[in-house]
Amino acid sequence: MKTHKAIALFSGGLDSILAVKWMQSKGYAVHPVFFKAPYLLPERAINYAAKNAIDLEVIDVSEEHIKLLNNPVYGFGKGLNPCIDCHGFMFKKAAELMPYRDADFLISGEVLGQRPKSQKRNAMNNVSKLSGVKDLIVRPLSQNLLPDTLPLREGWIAKKDMLSIQGRGRLAQLALAEELGIVDFPSPAGGCLLTDRNYCLRLQDLKKHQQDDLHSINLLAYGRHFRLTEEVKLIIGRDEAENETLKNIFREGLMLQAQDYMGPLGFITGKLNFATLDLALAIFILYHPKVPKSANIEVWRISNKQIISQTIKTATKGDREIINKYLISYL
Ligand code: SF4
Repeated sequence: MKTHKAIALFSGGLDSILAVKWMQSKGYAVHPVFFKAPYLLPERAINYAAKNAIDLEVIDVSEEHIKLLNNPVYGFGKGLNPCIDCHGFMFKKAAELMPYRDADFLISGEVLGQRPKSQKRNAMNNVSKLSGVKDLIVRPLSQNLLPDTLPLREGWIAKKDMLSIQGRGRLAQLALAEELGIVDFPSPAGGCLLTDRNYCLRLQDLKKHQQDDLHSINLLAYGRHFRLTEEVKLIIGRDEAENETLKNIFREGLMLQAQDYMGPLGFITGKLNFATLDLALAIFILYHPKVPKSANIEVWRISNKQIISQTIKTATKGDREIINKYLISYL
């Protein structure tokens, strides 16, 4: 008899870990995937998949996901998170993957009534409709409270293997985690930057200036961001890891580095004149605690990730008030 395999939407959160491990404990084949975008960073999912012996596939859906933010059918949550459209989209992408992974249906860790907006019965229905594959979706943690879909009607999976968890509490999930021996899982918050208010402020700023292209959005998750003019932004790495990441993903603009002093890297996007460069250097130098008053700054021009020219400018520390004027943050 053919065994039927599920593709699992995996976020790295407890519910998605439970859905995968529960189905596997019942003998079903599961292929977990994480869909990444500039604000859906895969590190947490990769980390908790590894800790729980889950083989995870990570797929980049950045370009398509960014388009969801323009006009989501079911609107946004508290931030810029279009959760219903996002879930529907992810099921759709997972369905497209099915023929290539020899899979027949889809599962997720959604729990009925857990999230105020996206996991109410109606919302789940809308998610299913948006996916275009409503009849192939199974939510193992709550499926006994939901209409049977094809995998149940056809007997690919047994109804007795489905659960009836619902509501906002976590006790049932924690008990299930204990039963399955799952001890490594993250706290409920986190995972999607579209719910982070400072990230949303930065994204709104890009949208307002019609700069919400993939390169600019890719930079948003790292560093401090400053809006200098309608066209020009400055980004300053907050630590070594951010400096390295920004350096790796920065494609076009200027990169700043102080001569003779260890410290952050700066990145400037947009066409700028001498006065704006001076402003950027004045802010940049304020983030160098080791520079006493002034320093020479290497200014590298980057095009298509390659250094194409270099100049040196002198920057002098001024009033820290300047930071508050240009920093894109609620502070
Ligand atoms: S929180 Fe973010 S990743 Fe999760 S459903 Fe909402 S938009 Fe998608």
